[in-house]
Amino acid sequence: MTTAIETRERLTPGPASSALVEWAYSPSLESTDHVKIEPRYNLFIGGKFVEPHSKRWFETINPATEGTLSEIAEGDAEDVDRAVREARRAYEKVWRKMPAAERGKYIFRIARLIQEKSRALAVVETMNGGKPIKESRDIDIPLAAAHFFYYAGWADKLDYAFPNRTVSPIGVAGQIIPWNFPLLMAAWKLAPALAAGNTIVLKPAETTSLTSLILAQIIQEAELPPGVVNIVTGAGATGAALVSHPDVDKIAFTGSTEVGKRIQRATAGTHKKLTLELGGKAPNIVFEDAPLDQAIEGIINGIYFNQGHVCCAGSRLFVQESIVEPVIRKLRDRIGTLRVGNPLDKNTDVGAINSRAQLDKIRELVDSGIEEGAEIFQSACALPERGFWFAPTFFTGVGQSNRIAQEEIFGPVLSVLTFRTPEEAVEKANNTPYGLSAGVWTEKGSRILKMAQKLRAGVIWANTYNKFDPTSPFGGFKESGFGREGGMHGLGPYVHVE
Ligand code: NDP
Repeated sequence: MTTAIETRERLTPGPASSALVEWAYSPSLESTDHVKIEPRYNLFIGGKFVEPHSKRWFETINPATEGTLSEIAEGDAEDVDRAVREARRAYEKVWRKMPAAERGKYIFRIARLIQEKSRALAVVETMNGGKPIKESRDIDIPLAAAHFFYYAGWADKLDYAFPNRTVSPIGVAGQIIPWNFPLLMAAWKLAPALAAGNTIVLKPAETTSLTSLILAQIIQEAELPPGVVNIVTGAGATGAALVSHPDVDKIAFTGSTEVGKRIQRATAGTHKKLTLELGGKAPNIVFEDAPLDQAIEGIINGIYFNQGHVCCAGSRLFVQESIVEPVIRKLRDRIGTLRVGNPLDKNTDVGAINSRAQLDKIRELVDSGIEEGAEIFQSACALPERGFWFAPTFFTGVGQSNRIAQEEIFGPVLSVLTFRTPEEAVEKANNTPYGLSAGVWTEKGSRILKMAQKLRAGVIWANTYNKFDPTSPFGGFKESGFGREGGMHGLGPYVHVE
């Protein structure tokens, strides 16, 4: 009997890599008919959807088609004030007084409802953000539910998280999230804050508000007391109004280092607690004794997962000099097999860039790489005509001072550098203002431990990359921010401990 793969290899003689490139999958589109996107969404304040004070709404689009999906309310400082007052009332009158086990039950309920609606949430996340459905279906949404389940369990066990101490909530938390993992970032922010007894005003990113607003509907369905979670949509100015509101006790921000610095300046000298999860330029270091094929998969996942819109993306690849040739060859072959296109196709590996502005930024940085003399290699994939797209790309011959080795590109673009000794790898890897994450690929356990001690990064993966779990803390060093999210550490920023 002849198998499909044998047939393919006979039909496409030549090196195995070209056979793989010629292999075409039939479309396998996720259906959208079970998904209900409202034509317009209002602000979620005090348990109800209310019109914005500005009476203005902005369009939210599908970046893969540029088609309009819905209209989102533009919240302003008045709306933020309304939301903070509701959050304060709910904090003083209901949430902080509620027995912790009861609080936990609401959080469990939210987790279960996310699971129940996971298929629709995945489709909306993909339509609004551009990420492949297999990622939103298998990673974003299940992890968001897992975060709520995990922190629901902590609600009545805070005394065990902080033994022999007196623990109390902080009050009203203002939380601002980015567009790369919309629902997951909302879960990272909301779940620990709620478990610790705080109330919340959340500001989603302008381009990807839809799943946060569906989460608001879930919160209504879970019958969370009104005002415990408020969601105020809008642009950067809405976030700035939340940061400067005098009755907010804590700001949690995930986004760019530039805005993070602005927020740090705005909160300096106030009573507000602050955690910042900012950008990164992570080193992914491959030693000559690494299992190469496994490392190639880790490199691919490290930079092309979610179109490279990942703060901890392995965007600087450091390869030991003796294995540069096979690594580059395998990388070139492998990116030729990545399927770029319709994010709703279950076979798609790389979806659409989140916005035109982000696409322009990627193009500008890629042009700078070429101008500075690095050698570019791009997948020859066909890109759709409409929408925002960028082919998987890597650069070789990158100098440490090149912008593509220093600045966060936040797109599917990898810079390849080389090293000779472990000391040189550490020195080069740490030569960045960032310090969020790193990867190490080697057969030697002792080398992994030694590298982990010397790399200035909050998360270090060994012989794997981009692995996330609610029990595991995540956060940065240096200009990647401070404070940890996830795990028991993630409770710390939301409690007073005496
Ligand atoms: P921003 O940091 O501007 O956005 C993050 C969040 O902050 C969004 O909700 C945004 O609103 C809001 N915001 C913007 N300005 C302010 C402000 N002055 N005060 C309070 N909140 C504010 O990231 P961008 O979306 O502009 O992306 C720019 C670059 O940042 C990317 O190219 C990428 O390099 C990096 N980035 C890094 C992320 C990370 O996780 N490390 C995540 C996202 C971006 P709005 O969406 O409406 O602008």
